[in-house]
Parts: sequence; C-alpha cells; structure tokens
Amino acid sequence: MDYQDLLDVVHQEVRPHIGKGRVADYIPALARVPAERFGLCLHLLDGREYGVGDVDEAFSIQSVSKVFALVLALGALGEQIWQRVGREPSGNPFNSLVQLEYEHGIPRNPFINAGALVITDWLLGLHADPSAELVAWLRRESASARVAIDAEVAASERAHGDRNAALAHFMKSCGNLQAPVERVLQTYFDHCAIRMSCRELARAGALLANHGRSPITGESWLTRSQAKQIAALMLTCGTYDAAGDFAFRVGLPGKSGVGGGILAVIPQRMSLCVWSPGLDPRGNSLAGVEALERFTTLSGISIF
Ligand code: GLN
Repeated sequence: MDYQDLLDVVHQEVRPHIGKGRVADYIPALARVPAERFGLCLHLLDGREYGVGDVDEAFSIQSVSKVFALVLALGALGEQIWQRVGREPSGNPFNSLVQLEYEHGIPRNPFINAGALVITDWLLGLHADPSAELVAWLRRESASARVAIDAEVAASERAHGDRNAALAHFMKSCGNLQAPVERVLQTYFDHCAIRMSCRELARAGALLANHGRSPITGESWLTRSQAKQIAALMLTCGTYDAAGDFAFRVGLPGKSGVGGGILAVIPQRMSLCVWSPGLDPRGNSLAGVEALERFTTLSGISIF
C-alpha cells in the first residue's frame, strides 16, 4: 500500500470539512488560530514518515498532553496510580464536575481534566519541575528541540481556569491531591500549553504502538502491559463523551485536545497525528475525526 497516495485521497475527501466546526475560544490565544489548517502525519515503526497538509506547523496540544503525562506517571510509579484515578469512560464533558462528588473525589479516568490533575499531582511527587521534565522528554521523543510551552497560552489558561480550579479544590477537599492546588493547576496548564506539530506528536506517540519502547530513542518507558493499558484507555476515554462514537467511526485508540489535535495509534504498525482546529460540540477536531475515519476505512486497517 502506498501511504502517500492514501493520505492524498484522505486530504481530498476531507476538504469540505476543513474549517467547519468551532475553534476553541475559551482563551483568546486559541481563538486566533486559523480554522482552515489541516495536517495528517504517519510515523511507521520502521521510521518511515508520511504527511499531508500542515504537518510541521506547531499547535497547542492541550489534552493530548494527558497521554504523555500518563506515560511518565505510569512508567515511573506503576499500579499504585490507580488508587487515585479510575479507568472508566465518563460519558460526560471533559471538564465536568458532577461525577466527582459521587465518587469521593476519585476521577473516572486520567484523560478528563480531573483525572489529569491527579496524574499531574503524582508527577509533582516525582519531579521538582514536571513541566520541564515533560518538555525535555517530548523533545527527545520527537527528535525536535523546538517543543516548548507557549507562555501566553499557559497564562491565559490560568486566567480562565476557574473550572479546573474548582475540580482541583474539590479533589483536595477529598484528600486526593497532595501538592498545593496552585502548583497542580499551574503544572497542568503548562502541559496543556505545550506546542508541537503533527509530525512531532506522531513520533512522541510511537512508543504506544511499539509495546512501550520508543522507536525514536530505543528506550522503554512502559511495560508491554502498560502500553496496552494506555491504548485501551485512549480507545474508551480518549475523546471524552464521544469515545463510543470515535471507536465506532475510527476504530483506533486516540487522544484529542481542544487545540484540534488527535493522536492515534495502530499497535505494532504506526502512530498518527491529525490536526485541524475546528471542533465538534464535544471538543474533538471535526475534520480530524473525519480524516481518521476515512484513513481506517480506505486502508482497511484498524484494531478491529
Ligand atoms: N486546557 C483545556 C482545559 O483544561 C484542555 C481541555 C482539552 O483539550 N479537552 O479545559
């Protein structure tokens, strides 16, 4: 199969959807991103890369960072992290508060905001500066020195972060955060504000398709079983309250962010990243989901 031809067809077919949907506007720095952008990049485990569109343009990775934070926390701390965060889809919006009270401050999964705040708290117990640690890790794993935190986006997240602050304070009141709430929030906002391109994200995610071992650096960050666990969580929880629809349409583990990026993996074959800033009502890239659906349909490759 010629992946480049396939990507060109996907790009052509998805064109009517590019620019549709709503660009995230909860902070001004994201509202300015042009809606017409689109990129799709594949990173095969043998090192081959294929791309179409704006594959090298950096964007705000937002909740895609939640996968990498989980890789670092699970890889370093193992099973114990599950004492403080669950593994069930929430069926609710990513920043929802409702389930936390019923579940005594234990978030449903690590890919909604509350769960990512708990993972951030675990990382604060491991590293003096988890954001610097994560950025350095992403630079190595994407073989790109330009990966960085966008200071304007991070400041804006903080200025408009009341909902996340509510989640964090509630969990603190339940005893499910160790570090000071302000530290947890600032670190979480920094992670959301990291800028990367489709190519860089596809590379950094390749370990998830390779049983936890990075094909870029050769280092093992997860056991085979942990890589399976994270991919399973991406499938069931990676696109919030649209995870069922995403699994139905795309058939791959994926993790989205409100910057319009989606990282997906095809175990033992490749990682892929799509970006287009227009979002559907659940906060997933509208053209991005379309493109991934077409990719798996036309290629016949999915996990099913
Ligand atoms: N910064 C966003 C928030 O915390 C990230 C959400 C997302 O990408 N779904 O609300």
